[in-house]
Amino acid sequence: MKRILLIEDDDTIVYGISELLKEEGYDAAAVSTLREAFCMDIRAFCLVLLDLGLPDGEGWDFLRKMEKDKGAPVIILTAREDEKDIIKGLDMGADDYVTKPFKAGILLSRIRAVLRRRREVEESGAVLRCGDIVLDKNRTLVMDGDREIALTAGEFRLFMYLMENKNSTLTRNALLRYLWDSSGDYVNDNTLTVTVKRLREKLGEKSGRIIRTVRGIGYKLEDEND
Ligand code: CA
Repeated sequence: MKRILLIEDDDTIVYGISELLKEEGYDAAAVSTLREAFCMDIRAFCLVLLDLGLPDGEGWDFLRKMEKDKGAPVIILTAREDEKDIIKGLDMGADDYVTKPFKAGILLSRIRAVLRRRREVEESGAVLRCGDIVLDKNRTLVMDGDREIALTAGEFRLFMYLMENKNSTLTRNALLRYLWDSSGDYVNDNTLTVTVKRLREKLGEKSGRIIRTVRGIGYKLEDEND
């Protein structure tokens, strides 16, 4: 997916960047207000270019939401070149900060760099996916779309193991061995059943069904998209 969202209220810049992105093989969509930006399904984009001064508010609000939702990477694109704005943007989680006026080649190069870094994180295996559910090992975080699912340490370990072995049946014994706890005790069979039950409940009605019980053997995490 090479779809980029441009949040920018200056028509000339929107036109210029849209053309530039198209030439580079990206698909660009543009909105000119924060209100419209908040209505977009951000999962459809690989990157966001964000202006700070918008007619109905400041780009910071959008950046805050993206950081909270762990959404697509954001490059701030603004005429504001104060050091304090740059620091604020990067500290709030923006992946890069480009000031206007900018050179087309440099903007494209910054975009490629941000996308490359994001891909490296995903390919390092630190981020696992199953449908809309994303598990981030580094941040010990599970998201279902834009909803964070709060798991206990045990539920997280179990879910991570299922994610790492997606679409394979794991025997109860394999799961019990893996869930060896820090004190060296085996998690007992009943604990496993209860943990799976709690995990399904937390994942919710639809998502909970991705954990399939394989009768007499164990469990399997199924990704309908694979
Ligand atoms: Ca503006």
